[in-house]
Amino acid sequence: MRFIHEALSARVLFGAGTRTELRREADRLAITRALVLTTPEQATMADMVADLLEGACAGRFTGARMHTPIDVTEAALAALRDTRADGVIAIGGGSTTGLAKAIALRTGVPQIILPTTYAGSEVTAVLGETADGRKTTQRMLDVLPETVIYDVELTLGLPVAMSVTSGLNAIAHAAEALYAADVSPIVALIAEEGVRALTTALPRIVETPRNPDARSDALYGAWLCGTTLGLVGMGLHHKLCHVLGGSFDLPHAETHSVLLPYALAFNLEAAPAALAALKRATGWRDPAQGLWAFANRLGVPPSLQAIGMPESGIDQATDLAIQSQYPNPRPVTRDGVRALLHHAWRGDGPA
Ligand code: NAD
Repeated sequence: MRFIHEALSARVLFGAGTRTELRREADRLAITRALVLTTPEQATMADMVADLLEGACAGRFTGARMHTPIDVTEAALAALRDTRADGVIAIGGGSTTGLAKAIALRTGVPQIILPTTYAGSEVTAVLGETADGRKTTQRMLDVLPETVIYDVELTLGLPVAMSVTSGLNAIAHAAEALYAADVSPIVALIAEEGVRALTTALPRIVETPRNPDARSDALYGAWLCGTTLGLVGMGLHHKLCHVLGGSFDLPHAETHSVLLPYALAFNLEAAPAALAALKRATGWRDPAQGLWAFANRLGVPPSLQAIGMPESGIDQATDLAIQSQYPNPRPVTRDGVRALLHHAWRGDGPA
């Protein structure tokens, strides 16, 4: 065995009700005037966070948006200056976390994140930003949040459809981590356990959305899967999702959910260790087919067509996906990618 493993530092508080530790955590980071970040849809959560801060809240910015547009970041930076805030607290999904990271990158202020989806951005040093319709991604330690508070109660109301697609988004991180060129035995352990936790939790959430044990398992799985995303390089599946999201403005978590079985069918035949780990984690004889059936059963949209991709976009997406080189277990060829996208566009099921 021969490997390099580099861990990222993260302080994680996990469990139901852990949000009540927020003020103590702010004190640890010497945050005395926090700017609280949310999306417009979750603006009422900013009031709850302000209450928990017991006087250490300097203001709220409730304009976070998907894909971290630069103009939103500039507006939030102005709010940071106006309120003389010395730290940011994000409550929400990957979009709100992205805004906290973008602010930290430019100012160095500490971040505390309270995730309410399963996207996993809070434990990665990756930031995607959009300017003039183009999304660029960078990986740097400056954007890694200092503290993550995973309060399971904050996820009880995550709508079922979003819970499923967000959970599959997390599973995609772990599945690709398992066949990453730089996977270590520790990352593989984390990934396998993350897939196990989420695949057992999601059906229970669909059945009983406020089931606290299922929600706890799902959030635990999301943390594990997000951790793997932060530690190793992703392959064809993440590349395709990035291309499709950027080119056709497709919804992030749904795109991951629809595409993952097809990407796994393409890659797993060249990734025996990942295949074995996914079999162990899920009990499915064929993890790509098993995942497709699982996603259908849980109500994931049936195809890329169903989530708004035009058929004419398949060639454009293929060109973009093969433009740059990145490690992937199977060689990424034009014909291979085009066929994969055709199947996923029609919703035929993985070949
Ligand atoms: P999101 O943050 O865009 O949230 C989608 C919507 O759901 C928003 O309106 C949000 O306010 C709402 N919402 C969130 N939690 C809710 C809850 N518990 N109850 C009700 N509504 C809730 O979606 P996301 O999928 O979490 O994040 C997607 C974004 O995160 C993308 O921009 C993606 O690129 C980014 N991302 C980045 C990384 C990274 O490592 N940099 C990782 C994963 C995702």
